[in-house]
Amino acid sequence: MKKNNTALLVIICLLLAGGGAYGQKGTLSEKNIRLVMQAAYNEFKGTSGGANADYIPYLASVNPNLYGIVVCTADGKVLEVGDTKFEFGIESISKVFVLALAMQERGAQAIQDSIGVNATGMPFNSVMAVELEPQRAVNPLVNAGAMATNSFVPGSSSAEKWTKIDNIFAKFAGRRLPVIQPLYASETATNQHNRAIAWLLYSYGRFYDNVDDAVDRYTKACSYGTTTRDLAVMAGTLANGGMNPVTREKVINAALCPKVLATMMMEGLYDNTGSWLYHTGIPGKSGVGGGIIAVAPGKLAIAVFSPPLDKAGNSVKAQKTLEYMINRLKLNLLDSGR
Ligand code: GLU
Repeated sequence: MKKNNTALLVIICLLLAGGGAYGQKGTLSEKNIRLVMQAAYNEFKGTSGGANADYIPYLASVNPNLYGIVVCTADGKVLEVGDTKFEFGIESISKVFVLALAMQERGAQAIQDSIGVNATGMPFNSVMAVELEPQRAVNPLVNAGAMATNSFVPGSSSAEKWTKIDNIFAKFAGRRLPVIQPLYASETATNQHNRAIAWLLYSYGRFYDNVDDAVDRYTKACSYGTTTRDLAVMAGTLANGGMNPVTREKVINAALCPKVLATMMMEGLYDNTGSWLYHTGIPGKSGVGGGIIAVAPGKLAIAVFSPPLDKAGNSVKAQKTLEYMINRLKLNLLDSGR
């Protein structure tokens, strides 16, 4: 009899422990995440609006109907729906991971002092953003700051600096990422505006390498081919304190993750970041290739891919999908949950 009681007690304890799984954890159970992800996919699959980026000719040629969603949880589950295996240009989302590298090598304070961390509130390729800031400080997630951040990665040669970028991207993604050569060629042929911004920063003493080399590395990093799954795992690493939740490899120090995520919160969706934060309450980062990542620290990351963009350069469908999922999964960091 006593034995039976003990067994009963153990069962009750197990149920109670799992009972958390019907509160906040229940919202984030694998089953519920799948349900919400599929519902979002069904809801927005037919959404139209926006247009592929065309200032980089390669991007205009990508099928606008591709649509994928991937969730990577902090404990390493990867859930996906749609065109999640298609490799597309990472574009501006690369800025997050080059920043992580520069921060890891130089320290968080050096990034604030030498690059800047405040929001510009201006378009991603704004020259005015540089001109208006007294210190010429810029955010590492807009083009000016991202190129300066790339120039700030230490190394004895441009090749060595590129190897560092390539290695850390491989660790974030859990696989070595390819550079999409036609995209790299297309961007290189059309990046005069970016080069002008880099030279402007250089003229103010806010660029830390040979301009052509650093702009080339920046352009190459924007041309990485990533699947929606890759992006979810990369973002999942930031959700998991800098350890890749799938490979379990430590990529950056846990203490740096909140700093990286703070820059995303301020500037992740360019001049639309305020509106993004207003509706979602978590850090996100978009790229003109049509990808957006969103990170719920300690819980999970979501990546969505759909090429047509709004005027600010953010995927129309990905924004709608993420807003829907973030709210249904109760991921808003600013919500007390009461
Ligand atoms: N390679 C693009 C550029 O520098 C990235 C922009 C983006 O994704 O926002 O213009």
